[in-house]
Order: sequence, then C-alpha cells, then structure tokens
Amino acid sequence: MTTTMTTDNSGDVRLCGIGKTYGAFTAVHPLDLTVPQGSFFALLGASGCGKTTTLRMIAGLEQPTSGTVHLGDQDVTHLPPYKRPVNTVFQSYALFPHLDIFENVAFGLRRRGVKSVKKQVEDMLELVQLGEQARKKPHQLSGGQQQRVAVARALINHPKVLLLDEPLGALDLKLRRQMQLELKRIQTEVGITFIHVTHDQEEAMTMADTVAVMNGGRVEQLGAPTDLYENPKTTFVANFLGTSNLIEAEVDTRDGEDVVVRAGGDKLVLPAARCSAPAPAGGKVLVGIRPEKIALVHADDAGAVPQGRNRLTGKIADASFIGVSTQYVIDSPACAGLSVYVQNVERDARLVPGADVVLHWSPAHTFGLDATQA
Ligand code: ATP
Repeated sequence: MTTTMTTDNSGDVRLCGIGKTYGAFTAVHPLDLTVPQGSFFALLGASGCGKTTTLRMIAGLEQPTSGTVHLGDQDVTHLPPYKRPVNTVFQSYALFPHLDIFENVAFGLRRRGVKSVKKQVEDMLELVQLGEQARKKPHQLSGGQQQRVAVARALINHPKVLLLDEPLGALDLKLRRQMQLELKRIQTEVGITFIHVTHDQEEAMTMADTVAVMNGGRVEQLGAPTDLYENPKTTFVANFLGTSNLIEAEVDTRDGEDVVVRAGGDKLVLPAARCSAPAPAGGKVLVGIRPEKIALVHADDAGAVPQGRNRLTGKIADASFIGVSTQYVIDSPACAGLSVYVQNVERDARLVPGADVVLHWSPAHTFGLDATQA
C-alpha cells in the first residue's frame, strides 16, 4: 500500500528563535531551524541537551520562552497541542491494555466521530505490517510490535508532522536496528515529516536525511549524516559521531587549497576547505582522521606507502579482532601521548602489539578543527 498523505508544504516545520528557560536555567538557547515537508529529521544529542524540550515546543506541550513555531504557513505558537496537525510517539507505547490492536488504532478516528473506520484501520495495520495481529491485546505483542501499533495510532488521523521521542529506547539492540529500518520505510510510504529525538548516533545516521547535533541547548551542527561524519566542525560533533583521532598540530603553511601542519616531527596535509580552524601559520589546529580511513603497514613495508599520503610512525599498543575488522591502538611519537585508533580490514600476522608500524591515509579524508575549543 502506498499512502501519500500530503503533497503540499503544510508539513514544513519552522522554528524562529525558539528558546526555553526554566528560572535561571536555559534548556534551549534561541534557535532557528527549518525542517522541510516530507523529510526525516533527527535531533541528536546526549541526555539533557534540550532535544525533548525542543520537540515538546513543536508539539505544543511546552510553551517557548521566546520565538515562534510555524507549521506550513501557520504560526502555531499559541495553539494547544490538539489543534496542531502534529502527533507524538513516546518511548512508553501508552497503548490501551484493555483494547485490542484494531481498537487501539481506531481510537483517534472514533473520538473524532468517524463512523466507518474499518478500511482506514486495516490499511494502517497493513502499513505497519500488523494486519494479522488486529484482534490481539497489546500484552500479546512484542515490544517492537507494540511500538508499531503506537506509530499506526499516531498516523491514523493523518498528521502533517510525526514527532518521535526516543521511540526505540525500550527495545533491545537487535530489535532497535530492525525498527529503525521499519520506521524509515513507513516514513517513505506516508511521505510526511518525521522529527525523531535520539541520543544514539547510529540510529540518527541510519534513519534521518538531516541530523541536528545538539549540545548544551544549542544546535552545534546540522547536516546530512555523511556530511556530519566526514566534515565535523567541532570536537564535540567529531567525538559524538563515532571515534575520531584528533592530533594536535601546528600550522606550517596555508594556501588556497591546502593546509600543511606539523605534528611532532611529521608533516601532514589537509584540504583548506575541510579545515574549520581559523588558525594561520604558527597557530594550533586539531587534525582529525577517522579510524577506518587509516591504512596500517608493518614498518618493514614502509617503502611501499604511496607518495602523497599523510603518514605517521608508531608502535602497536593493542589489537582487538572484532570479526569484520581489527581495531588497533597505536602509540605514535607525533601524537604526544595520544593513542591513534585504526580500524583495518586487511590482516597481517606481523601486526601484533609491540610491532613498529606506519599509518598512512589520504589528505582528502583529513579534517581540521579549532584547537582552542577542545
Ligand atoms: P534526555 O535524553 O535525557 O531526555 P534531553 O536532551 O531530551 O535529555 P531535555 O529533556 O530537553 O533534554 O532537558 C533539557 C534540560 O532542561 C535538562 O537539563 C533538564 O533537566 C531541564 N529541564 C527539562 N524540563 C524541565 C523542567 N520542567 N523544569 C526544570 N528543568 C527542566
């Protein structure tokens, strides 16, 4: 079944300077954010960073201290939740235990006085792949199935925007991964705006087209998952999204295209376009490289490293085989006590703790961050 609920811009969400304070404490600093109709948007951040408060201001469950909330062309800042074309799915499924699945989903329609609910409920149960379970009670379903009922129930009244507040938080890891793909499929089918709150970076990156990384009540960076991962602009974003090697270095030369830095005795190159640090020659910079972008060879094979690669020498401190790859911790003199993490798919029996190695990677995969913000 393909249910296209809307094709206009009524599912655009625009936050203009909305902020929230509780007494002297600022939970959300005034923020501007636009979520286009039909997108899958994630608010990602650690506990207490203000993502639920932001979501609740969109839902109307929390009144902003400043700013306005717009849905499509309408300013809804002062509308109560039930008058907004928005629905919310919470981590606790909040299903009615005494009603069967069909009636749980039909509830919103019946409350609005809709007489013939059968076809709509059946279509919705089909959408969430629970057509066979209609006459079961919630306690007879798994956690993932119950969460799908909660999604069906939230979608039955055709909201323009669905808000999801850590909806998968109560599920075990395997089910969580399945439900991430499931929610993504449902969003693609219904075509409405989904705004999803999570503290799980992998979840946000798997599901969302756009992710806002929040920290301390502010959006620290906004972008497509690949862009955030490959071009983090702050140390917080670099560290929150996966493992990052951040190597302290000093800018040697900087021209239009390249920044050349010194890390200990080694020179490293990175594209100027990927260096968000303003550091001029002589300034400090943090050079970032993701573990899986680094190739590792035994020191005896150093001569085979191609020209033009960034390279560091080091010694293997630890090696852990994790199935698809091996994770290494490398002590490198250039990193002044910092360990470099490498994730390598190639196997080489000589790459064991104590071995002298050369790490090398493409300058194109290197990014530069402002060392003063760390
Ligand atoms: P979590 O993932 O733990 O739910 P979050 O990022 O969603 O965290 P919020 O729930 O938005 O964070 O809370 C942001 C900050 O505002 C927190 O420090 C929280 O303690 C505070 N806060 C939230 N609601 C209130 C309230 N009603 N009164 C006072 N402080 C509040």
